[in-house]
Amino acid sequence: MSVISDKEQLQQSTSVAQYDVVIVGAGPYGLTAAAHLLGRGLKVAIFGKTLELWREHMPKGMFLRSHWWATNLSDPKKQYGFDQFFRVSKYKKCYPVPAEAFVDYALWFQKNAVPNVDETYVASVERIGDKFRVTLEDGRVLEAAAVIMAVGLYYYANMPAEYTHLSSEVMTHSFEHNDFSRFNGKKLLVIGGGQSAVEYTALLLEAGASVHLVSRRRINWLAPDHSEERSLWEKIKAPNSGIAPGWKNWALEYLPYLFYYLPQYRKDRYIRNHYNAAASDWLRDRVIGKAHLHEGQKTQSLKEVAGGVDVSLEDGTEFHVDHVMLSTGYEVRLSRLNMVHPALRAQVQTETDIPQLSSSFESSVPGLYFIGLTSLRSFGPLYRFVVGAKASGERVAAAAARHVARVRR
Ligand SMILES: Cc1cc2nc3c(=O)[nH]c(=O)nc-3n(C[C@H](O)[C@H](O)[C@H](O)COP(=O)(O)OP(=O)(O)OC[C@H]3O[C@@H](n4cnc5c(N)ncnc54)[C@H](O)[C@@H]3O)c2cc1C
Repeated sequence: MSVISDKEQLQQSTSVAQYDVVIVGAGPYGLTAAAHLLGRGLKVAIFGKTLELWREHMPKGMFLRSHWWATNLSDPKKQYGFDQFFRVSKYKKCYPVPAEAFVDYALWFQKNAVPNVDETYVASVERIGDKFRVTLEDGRVLEAAAVIMAVGLYYYANMPAEYTHLSSEVMTHSFEHNDFSRFNGKKLLVIGGGQSAVEYTALLLEAGASVHLVSRRRINWLAPDHSEERSLWEKIKAPNSGIAPGWKNWALEYLPYLFYYLPQYRKDRYIRNHYNAAASDWLRDRVIGKAHLHEGQKTQSLKEVAGGVDVSLEDGTEFHVDHVMLSTGYEVRLSRLNMVHPALRAQVQTETDIPQLSSSFESSVPGLYFIGLTSLRSFGPLYRFVVGAKASGERVAAAAARHVARVRR
């Protein structure tokens, strides 16, 4: 039996395509990072389906909770902002923004700023010597000095244990849907109390379903949005920001790396206490009086029976539904990223299965970076939204460029 050293493995693979940086994921975060890396003249490969989450895992007719000016992708020459897109497209500035407008904007950004997206999925990322070997689902292999993981939300869909006994025929995560027409005439139970749960309830009703919404807390309705017509005094008291008005949110956006330096227990407390699920005011009329809202309630039991699920709530209410939809959010877990080779995963230092990151989004493995939701616990709530893509893209591109230069030397 012969043992092949890391160096020999690299020598054997000299025909393998070489890149400075590989980006895994072509959502808002991956595209923005790619634009900044390309701006630095690096050789970049980016894989994943452009805007897959927005195109394939969100229902038709959805609106964004954030404003258009808070959903910019970023490029180094500032040529491809949402504002520039309005000038060349059929869309007009408005609130709320239809998801379709954001998707068309992001595709326009990709076409112009990152034309080389390869839609193939990455099957495996391994570390060999001081480089990474990336194997694609179609069998192609390439190597890079740095890898940026921008895989978004999909792998982190949260399925609380109390629902997992139900079969996938009667229970799905909201993430699995982009067309609610199949629920016309059906009875649904939606679990959750945030924007998605409430907006999906509205869309299900409008698709002809009857809906029970069960939320552990009362729905936290956001105040009506007047950000376009706020007085100077209101803006001084609570300035506009991409997350929501307020000085703390303003600081998160305009000092986007400061949160990182807080002690971890304070960061955890802040994320827990300040970012409870909330729903936009413009959804009120679409659900109140139309859906059965069970607020401050939990399910007591869910029993799968022929043709659906018998539900009983803690307050004794009982009803039957055809389908249960979990709108229970996302939970970062490194162990769910099956494209990170187990040997590499074992080298990434984690706490509660969440990668620990440096102030430049780098994991404990030099040259391996995580951006987007994976960085939330280190960098704060900004990075849960598209508005965080600019700050992470700029910083990770600068750090990856330095790393590439070191590996070249
Ligand atoms: C219902 C809903 C509504 C939302 N509304 C808003 C809003 O109004 N405003 C806002 O700012 N944010 C909103 N968000 C959050 C928003 O989705 C995220 O901030 C943003 O999409 C995250 O971008 P991302 O690039 O990190 O990941 P994603 O957009 O999730 O993209 C992930 C990318 O990874 C790729 N990928 C996955 N696996 C692989 C693989 N093995 N190989 C290669 N590529 C892979 C995918 O193809 C995709 O390109 C919403 C989220 C949801 C679920």
